[in-house]
Amino acid sequence: MLHAGRQLTTSFHAELYNLVPEEHLLRKIHCIVDFSFIHELVENSYCKYYGRPANEPELLFRLLFLQILYNLSDERIVQEAQVNLAYKWFLGINPEDPLPDASQLSRFRNHRLGASQVEDVLKQVVSQCVEKGLIKSKTIILDATHTQAGSQKQRPLDVLRDAAKRLLRAVVKRHPKLEKKLPALPRVKSEQEDAAQIMLHYLAKLGETVEELLPDHEGAISDKVQIAKQIVADERLLSHKGILSAIDPDARFAWKSQTKSFFGYKEHLAMSEEEIITAVVVTPGSNDDGKQLPLLLSQTRANGITVTEIIADTAYSGKDNLAEMKEESIQPVVPLNPVVHHGGERQGGFEYNKDADFVICPAGQHSTRKAMQGSKQSGKSRSLVFYFDVEKCKTCPLSEGCYKPNSKSKTYSIRIIAEHFKEQIEFELSDTFKERIKRRPIIEHKNAEMKRFHGMATAKYRGLFRMRIQTYLTAFVVNVKRMVKLVEQKQPALG
Ligand code: SF4
Repeated sequence: MLHAGRQLTTSFHAELYNLVPEEHLLRKIHCIVDFSFIHELVENSYCKYYGRPANEPELLFRLLFLQILYNLSDERIVQEAQVNLAYKWFLGINPEDPLPDASQLSRFRNHRLGASQVEDVLKQVVSQCVEKGLIKSKTIILDATHTQAGSQKQRPLDVLRDAAKRLLRAVVKRHPKLEKKLPALPRVKSEQEDAAQIMLHYLAKLGETVEELLPDHEGAISDKVQIAKQIVADERLLSHKGILSAIDPDARFAWKSQTKSFFGYKEHLAMSEEEIITAVVVTPGSNDDGKQLPLLLSQTRANGITVTEIIADTAYSGKDNLAEMKEESIQPVVPLNPVVHHGGERQGGFEYNKDADFVICPAGQHSTRKAMQGSKQSGKSRSLVFYFDVEKCKTCPLSEGCYKPNSKSKTYSIRIIAEHFKEQIEFELSDTFKERIKRRPIIEHKNAEMKRFHGMATAKYRGLFRMRIQTYLTAFVVNVKRMVKLVEQKQPALG
């Protein structure tokens, strides 16, 4: 049950708030940003008539804001806010007032904000920037960044065993009498060749048995049954390319560069030239960057921004993206990458990794080098050729139809049909393109700020759902910080 409005009481101790300096960041934020939208945003997630009176949504949202601004845990922010005058002033409570329990923060985050449209939090701050005339540019800059999962990457056998143990534990804890009816965990050794297969069959059987015995399962059991089903259905698991954590099954393994990999999530961002984040898409770490362009564009527009130019790296130069931008009269300041703008067609399971700039073959081998055939200026079609280590191909179980015995090389070529991209190739050589593409790195600074100061280097919670909440809230916080700077630049007296 929600109170009708905020009830502030004045206190004799409120005089203490005079000690908070006028130029304190929180005073500026309070003066510039309107947080009251949160009440309407989460209203529907509360029961109107029943339950104990809820803590004010704005108080809890401001606490979440402080938590991300100062990069603290749920417990720490409550402890700090209890003794920090500036925090208490910002929260709108009296110095002697108690703070909500830390557990209320996670409930508010997941069940109120998560249940509502958490993206509206970003929409609100972008709208406030537009209303204040802070966004003038019609350009957006796109980029993706990585967040390491909070859990460890596991081998397929460990993922399967872990998922099975967690499901067994959840069922036995709630229904101890069912223990004997559940299939027993097989004893397999990791060096056993078919160990993962045995465990995969066991997990499938265990999941089916639980569903038969407990058709109306709910709560923790349902969560674990879902994870077991997801793992069993993941065809890529046994080749180390699919689910790699029973605790965080949405996280994925991917490459950051030729030598660096990561396990977790990707945040795809669109940002205006004024450095205000206008759209966010969160995916598992292995997802393609370029495919998020249409979503980022539509979200930016839905947030009230007109777009006539997009600046991004080669990952966004796919032919569908170029076609969409052309249709929408948007100038793409996007360097062409032959592999990417080939259109995503991948022969026989060969996959290009933009960050590492290599091709991975169906057997999981990386190309060792690449070469371009044909000249850019010639205007004729060119090919990009990736070379594989033939010594590995000679012993590869998938070599049939891929590598001819005794061949001196194994290559994978991608042909670029020049006339399809003529216009863009010419634009790429122009001075305008060279000048505009220099704006792209500013989004990398934003990514660095989110990671360095606001905890986006590592996922604070598990699962894509919670990762989305973490990202949207962080985008809200960095936008608010930027908003204060932009207002100060407009009205120096505030600074
Ligand atoms: S033959 Fe070579 S390139 Fe082909 S799948 Fe096997 S290792 Fe990869």
